[in-house]
Amino acid sequence: MSPMPAAFAPAPMPEDKLSLLTRLTEGLEPHSLWWLSGYAAGLAERAPERPVERAAERGAARPGIAAETLGAVKLSIVYGSQTGNSKRLAEQLAAQAESAGLATRLLRADAYPLRELKDERLLYLVISTQGDGDPPEDARGFVEYLAGKRAPELKRLKFAVLGLGDSSYPQFCGIARRLDLRFAQLGAQRLLDRGEADLDIESVATPWLQRALQTAKEQLKTSAPLASVTPLRPGPQAASPWSKEKPYAAELLLKQRISGRGSQKDVRHIELSLEGSGLSYQPGDALGVWAQNSPPLVAGVLAALHLDGEQLVSHGGVQLPLRDWLVGRRELSKLSRPFLLQHAERAQDSTLKSLLAPEQSAALGEFVAQRQLLDLLLQYPADWSAEALVAALRALTPRLYSLASSQLHVGPEAHLTVHHVHYQSVAGARWGVASHFLSAQDEGAQVPIFIEANARFRLPKDASRDLIMIGPGTGVAPFRGFVQERAAVGASGKNWLLFGNPHARHDFLYQLEWQQALKAGQLQRLDLAFSRDHAHKHYVQHLLEQNGRQVYAWLESGAHLYLCGDATRMARDVEAALLALIALHGAHDPDSARDYLSALQAQGRYARDVY
Ligand code: NAP
Repeated sequence: MSPMPAAFAPAPMPEDKLSLLTRLTEGLEPHSLWWLSGYAAGLAERAPERPVERAAERGAARPGIAAETLGAVKLSIVYGSQTGNSKRLAEQLAAQAESAGLATRLLRADAYPLRELKDERLLYLVISTQGDGDPPEDARGFVEYLAGKRAPELKRLKFAVLGLGDSSYPQFCGIARRLDLRFAQLGAQRLLDRGEADLDIESVATPWLQRALQTAKEQLKTSAPLASVTPLRPGPQAASPWSKEKPYAAELLLKQRISGRGSQKDVRHIELSLEGSGLSYQPGDALGVWAQNSPPLVAGVLAALHLDGEQLVSHGGVQLPLRDWLVGRRELSKLSRPFLLQHAERAQDSTLKSLLAPEQSAALGEFVAQRQLLDLLLQYPADWSAEALVAALRALTPRLYSLASSQLHVGPEAHLTVHHVHYQSVAGARWGVASHFLSAQDEGAQVPIFIEANARFRLPKDASRDLIMIGPGTGVAPFRGFVQERAAVGASGKNWLLFGNPHARHDFLYQLEWQQALKAGQLQRLDLAFSRDHAHKHYVQHLLEQNGRQVYAWLESGAHLYLCGDATRMARDVEAALLALIALHGAHDPDSARDYLSALQAQGRYARDVY
């Protein structure tokens, strides 16, 4: 049994309690630990406070510190995060608040004990918006609860919301806006204007977090730093020298097309070396890739603007040739609303201006989906200086791919399944940034990468549990890692994969591997939906419908259910099919079928990784 982690202050409790606590927390998932920390904080909140004694116990009493700053939790920081950015910011704020002596607790939204909301006094929420107005997976229950009738009055609550989003979508920061409004409707007092951070997160988030910290200090009336109050855990990657900010240059070992020649999709299996990096991951995690824009695309932008790529441009204290800014540091594929506003002014174009009117958000969404920067420049010419362009474009951000391997099987390697995105825009052939970058690299090239842990999407600790994995298209990627891992540990639970893609002949990704896994008893069921091999579309949700009785029986006997792939159409339709089969085979009405699925999610038995 391991003692409490060394980084924590000595535990202010007797040995026997400490030993009990160590046993209780051993092997718990991070979300259970966060829940437990919230539970304990709630108990502390209700218990009579003896702050001065407690400070003395820790040897942390200092003159001039108000008694009420010690003891019970005062600041709750809640985050909802899909790709890890909100989580990182919330952790940063919590660490700063903690070292400023504020009693702080940090909770992922799905670990937040909702019944405590009515007693909260000070809450900061950091939350992203997915695509066009969806909450991140871990905040679905939180958002639903707040929006619903069961949400309590929050007259005693003071709050502030920091939203993260992508301004190329019309519902930019839509979830943060909704919750900000909803807290106020429920009677809570807004302490700070909502922050709305676009892809270049730091330019908005950093000053917002500073203000939030200052405001929390004022609210809790503390000024001197105290000893640690609520131990805050570093993220799982904290021990690694490599991170999003400091990516590892991984050697590209293999790049192989795995869709057939006749396929309309170019899907690549990619293998990268992590040898000697110290990086590790678990099945379900993602790999971040810092891609670069392609030189021909950058040349096109320079030519369209009649700008010289060698011209030096200074921005934010960095000086680089314009070409370098555009290749490695600026987003050229996704247009943002703020950029379009500036461009419309420069172009003096009435069509563009009318698209940017608030009531045109759907039309703007469509416009942006069909155009990259170069298309805009060719269709609606305008003059830009090099400095103004670099300042107006958003920073290039890394792209995340689900890891398609288990390290128990592949050792120090990371495998990906990448759809090389290629389409015809209004003004020519265009590519997805990272998939094009990866596809263009030769084997042996170095790719800047980092691991993004995804604690929401994990195999069950109990290897005897069965798995149902639904992963059409490249959504199958994490399940390759799941099956490899389960085989490596000799898991006794059964594995059932439901996969779909256009044609059996060209798009059966990893066909041989699945067939071998079936033969080896590592995969018990494989159901396939090849959508274009039939007169009518045949999708994974039709497989669920056809096998509803078995799916329900598996769930009833404790199976874990996973869904990965496209968020906009597939995930919505699959979820409808799941609700229908639960209603049919469990004799539930629609509301209780929804409750059944929500309960699975709350137990960590239904996880989605969709975007
Ligand atoms: P895809 O476009 O999702 O197509 C895969 C299969 O799903 C095709 O047979 C397609 O049929 C079918 N399909 C279309 N609409 C559907 C619907 N409403 N319900 C069920 N099935 C439907 O495949 P892809 O090109 O490989 O793209 C995969 C998507 O998953 C991308 O959006 C990618 O970003 C996402 N993805 C997410 C993750 C993640 O979140 N971790 C990982 C990998 C991939 P038809 O085309 O014949 O209509």
